[in-house]
Amino acid sequence: MQGFFSKGEYSGTKPKTFLQVRGKPNTLPLKTVFLLLAIATAVVFCLPYRHLFFCETVQFGQFSEPAENIFISPGIARKEHAKILRMLETAENRVNAFWGEKKGRATVIVCATPAEYGRYCPNKEGAGCSLGTFYGNSFIVLNLYGINPDVISHEMCHNEVFSRLGWRKTTFAIPQWFNEGLAMMLDYRFVNTPNSAARYERYLKEWRLRTVPPAKKLRLAEISTLNGFFGGDARHVTLAYLTAATEVSHWLLLVGQKGLIQWTEAIQRGDRFEVYYEIENLHRKITPHPGNPVRRLDQAQPSE
Ligand SMILES: [Zn+2]
Repeated sequence: MQGFFSKGEYSGTKPKTFLQVRGKPNTLPLKTVFLLLAIATAVVFCLPYRHLFFCETVQFGQFSEPAENIFISPGIARKEHAKILRMLETAENRVNAFWGEKKGRATVIVCATPAEYGRYCPNKEGAGCSLGTFYGNSFIVLNLYGINPDVISHEMCHNEVFSRLGWRKTTFAIPQWFNEGLAMMLDYRFVNTPNSAARYERYLKEWRLRTVPPAKKLRLAEISTLNGFFGGDARHVTLAYLTAATEVSHWLLLVGQKGLIQWTEAIQRGDRFEVYYEIENLHRKITPHPGNPVRRLDQAQPSE
């Protein structure tokens, strides 16, 4: 013990505790500060939200910023930047047309490799992801193969919901199938049309093709949560997307953009998600109602 103290954490010859230091403010020794910093850094990097740290500090790294709030990896050639900006513009036009006006102001981060994408996005796989924080900042992260108008407008649509409703309502008040179904309206990978009648017809056709017995069907109640929607194999997730897109395209066929904005304003005022059905009933009086087999599944079986 003597040997330990003789090295001394303090400059004096006699070992002291903090309480013994009289007349001086209680300060931590430098070694302890470094140790605490190292522990804090390790904790931050081990947290499941460490990607937010990287997103928030992207401007201090090697990424280029060819336009405001758009960051492109140094692994992507500069001659590609103009093409990427054009795709972002195409996606923005889709968002403007669908929502009437784009309000989302997410920082866009374009990655060059899956490893880089994994730093900024909590899911290491996938073409793109959208992140919203409880303090209001939001990010759209794109993988190299996600640099196309479908993926970008899909993520921008998620960001639009977040921007209009905020983190708490987006996280807790909206079923996952609605958020994903809306995003699919701007994402033409399955169905390539902005026309609402043709869009519902084609989604319904796709849904029917993939649910021919004995293939299982998914009830909306089963895909309301993040886990329920994405917690399954590729077939489950594809069917979840199709089920969501069929339901939302049917709803939009009835209520149109006017109904979507009415729903958004109602949720902003504090209404529950169920106002979705009330708005549908309001518009159904003036719009003929085509059948919707997805909805009938939920009506036939009690929800969870
Ligand atoms: Zn999505």
